[in-house]
Amino acid sequence: MRAFKRLSTGGTLLAWKSKWRSQPGKSPLSSSNTKVCVVGSGPAGFYTAQHLLKARQDVEVDIYERLPVPFGLVRFGVAPDHPEVKNVINSFTQTAKHARCHFYGNVNIGKDVSVEELRQAYHAVILSYGAEGNRTMGIPGEDLPGVYSAKDFVGWYNGLPSCRDLNPDLSPETAVILGQGNVALDVARILLSPIDILKKTDITQAALEALMESKVRRVLIVGRRGPMQVACTIKELREMVKLPATRPEMLQADFVGVSEALSDLPRPRKRLTELMLKSATELSTDEERERSHQNWRSWGFRFFRSPVQIRPNSDGSRVEAVRLAVNRLEGSGEAARAVLTGELEDVTCGLVVSSIGYKSLPIDPAVPFDPDKAIVPNQMGRVHQAPGLYCSGWLKTGPTGVIATTMNNSFDTAKSLIEDMDSGHLDTSAAKSGAESITDLLAKRGVKRVTFPDWEKIDDLERRKGEAMGKPREKMLTVEAMLQVARTEKV
Ligand code: FAD
Ligand code: NAP
Repeated sequence: MRAFKRLSTGGTLLAWKSKWRSQPGKSPLSSSNTKVCVVGSGPAGFYTAQHLLKARQDVEVDIYERLPVPFGLVRFGVAPDHPEVKNVINSFTQTAKHARCHFYGNVNIGKDVSVEELRQAYHAVILSYGAEGNRTMGIPGEDLPGVYSAKDFVGWYNGLPSCRDLNPDLSPETAVILGQGNVALDVARILLSPIDILKKTDITQAALEALMESKVRRVLIVGRRGPMQVACTIKELREMVKLPATRPEMLQADFVGVSEALSDLPRPRKRLTELMLKSATELSTDEERERSHQNWRSWGFRFFRSPVQIRPNSDGSRVEAVRLAVNRLEGSGEAARAVLTGELEDVTCGLVVSSIGYKSLPIDPAVPFDPDKAIVPNQMGRVHQAPGLYCSGWLKTGPTGVIATTMNNSFDTAKSLIEDMDSGHLDTSAAKSGAESITDLLAKRGVKRVTFPDWEKIDDLERRKGEAMGKPREKMLTVEAMLQVARTEKV
């Protein structure tokens, strides 16, 4: 039935042209396959592709990625001292090497190729391009020198090419991080970790050298709500508590009534709160007692505080303090709301990192985008009023959730697409040109795509450079350097 439909729709020339598209190490592909492309090669892109390839033998998936290197936030977000998290790269690599999967890096969708052009070339297009912007606080002084977004700060220590020149000023003694999620804790940990720990990770050499010279000794992590609403998770808090040569510095006043409320909390929240309470109120072991008397670096949460202004120094050249509005909570539990009390306080600091969340951005005016929620409006991954267009990952849900959460929401999108194939809602009757016409377009536009074997040359060189320095890898910091290696025959 399928084959008959295909012949009858007369896509014979395209079908003939794309009949045996192949790449080194890949089997020839069938022209009758359903051609799907994914935009973005982070966890969402790879997990969506993985599910489709596994569930259907008649689907081919091409993955387009803006950068010459794959894996999104697994490479540019996950903290360098969390190497175990990056093991997902192994399964993503298997997907990329699947006979029915192709990776095209260095292709900026929305700029080099439009989403409409992809929709012409593929039966289905899945947008999985993540959340590359950051939420802003909208307060005076946010743009002062010395104030950085966590997105840029993380990108800087993780070698994101666009953040290479950030050069954050680490000369101040006190840093304030605004927001209390896991990204805030990553930043705090990187600022305070002993260099001996960091130098064995894949943190960039430039960041390592800057951190070696860092004068930051105290990190305050500020949240607008209370200890029972903190957004970080227990593993990340435990890492802070155990960080060598540092001590927690909390305000006991922030914990009034918390121990009484513990028994009513759900178990994960209860354990997290107990650990926080313990580090705030007890110096239980000899070692902790000793730590408190030494001149070690310190970190602490500051609760019930909303940033209202970043204050400049006298000549206006950089940040000198953060003005915080003191809050009280209305309601209880996760849903409790911060309400201003009218009281203000200033915290003197020379470094501010705003870590209040990432944000997806529109990449193509032809794609529906909800500016308030900063997501592509969708139902179970089906983009509203755009048949054949799907989304997954942070673009679908907003910028929350760990890799496992992203995996599940990406599998759900793949399931929606398969349901639509089975029900006929996704029209797969006409043959589609897939990558063939897109690579023609790219060639005409002078865009040099990077294949997965090209990435493997970059990967190999980075690992060898790292090995020579006692690190798992030393990342390349510019797109140009990456492309140069991708173009070489042998490295
Ligand atoms: P991304 O990972 O952002 O992938 C999007 C991809 O799309 C990127 O490769 C990007 O280059 C590409 N892209 C963007 N625009 C275009 C375009 N126009 N054309 C083509 N390609 C494009 N989770 C954990 O489980 N453990 C952790 O330790 C952990 N640490 C984290 C640390 C940080 C700082 C952050 C921000 C998140 C962390 N997470 C962690 C969460 C995890 O990274 C996310 O759940 C996951 O990466 C979201 O996947 P995604 O594919 O939607 O987005
Ligand atoms: P997040 O978990 O959503 O935390 C955002 C923080 O910013 C919260 O404390 C939030 O407070 C605060 N905030 C938001 N808007 C604010 C405003 N206008 N003013 C003041 N504070 C504001 O986001 P994230 O830290 O960027 O992390 C994103 C996701 O990645 C999370 O799901 C996280 O778990 C995951 N991640 C995981 C790891 C890991 O597993 N190790 C590491 C990094 C990131 P409220 O709670 O009051 O809104």
